[in-house]
Amino acid sequence: MAFGILALQGGFAEHGAMLGRLGAEHFEIRQLRDIQRPMDGLLLPGGESTVIAKLLKELGLFQPLREKIQAGLPVFGTCAGLILLAQQVEGGEPCFATMDISVKRNAYGRQLGSFFTEGRMEGVGRVPMTFIRAPYIAAAGEKAQVLAQVNGHIVAARQGRQLVTAFHPELNDDLSIHRWFLDEVAQGLWKR
Ligand code: GLN
Repeated sequence: MAFGILALQGGFAEHGAMLGRLGAEHFEIRQLRDIQRPMDGLLLPGGESTVIAKLLKELGLFQPLREKIQAGLPVFGTCAGLILLAQQVEGGEPCFATMDISVKRNAYGRQLGSFFTEGRMEGVGRVPMTFIRAPYIAAAGEKAQVLAQVNGHIVAARQGRQLVTAFHPELNDDLSIHRWFLDEVAQGLWKR
């Protein structure tokens, strides 16, 4: 299995480190030719979603990646990556818009924008959750399954082969969410 990590801006290196620790082959996506490589799954890192969206379009990556996601390529988006997948974005523009969720950008305000907690995630168990100027999911549509909530707000969800977290599992030592994503992809359990 090989995983592509969108590496235009933000915390892509940290996802690479997680996959490396799990022994999973991975490569960075910086330009069109990178997505010609066989790819079993895609990771969309945290960063600045407006910048990533702009670069995706400028580099001609937006349309082909959107088509791959729509065709069932498994994708894991964290924070800005979550925003990129949401159909509705409060405080920003939708990008791939492949997930039936509505997100609120910078949802915790300036003071509480960054914080750490621990919580239970469906399918995974108890995990550390690092939030950095994080969004939350204000509403999840019928097709989306809520996986975790913090203080009454949805912070992780899944829809078919799309997995999103508002927090950054790649910034903690705990490999369990990445392992779960890899395992599910490997077993082909991700139904469309
Ligand atoms: N606030 C960022 C955005 O709206 C997301 C922050 C992050 O990815 N850590 O894109």
